[in-house]
Amino acid sequence: MAENPCPIYAQHQMRSQGFASVKDESGAKINQLDGGGWFKCGCGERFISWGSPQSRLPIVYYATEGAIVGSNGASTGIGAFTVKRSLVRFTESNTLPGYMFL
Ligand SMILES: [Zn+2]
Repeated sequence: MAENPCPIYAQHQMRSQGFASVKDESGAKINQLDGGGWFKCGCGERFISWGSPQSRLPIVYYATEGAIVGSNGASTGIGAFTVKRSLVRFTESNTLPGYMFL
C-alpha cells in the first residue's frame, strides 16, 4: 500500500524514469536495488524497483518515497538515490495497491 495517497490521481501514476543507482546512508551499495529502475508520479512520489512492473513483470525488491532519504535531484534519466536499507521490501507481484506502473 502506498504510504501517501496520491493528491492528483486515484492511485499514483508511476512513470518509468530510467536506471537507479542506490546506496544506503553509510554509502554502501544496496545490491537489491542498484541497477534497477525508478519511477515518478506527477505528484512527486518516487518508487525504486529492481523489477519491471511497467512491463507486467514482478516488482521484486523495492523502496517507496518514505524509504528515500536523498537523491541527486535528477528529474529523468539515471538517478542516484540514498535509501534506508531497513525499508527495502520484496514482492513477487507486479502490482502494488495505490500504484499504477506506466
Ligand atoms: Zn501521485
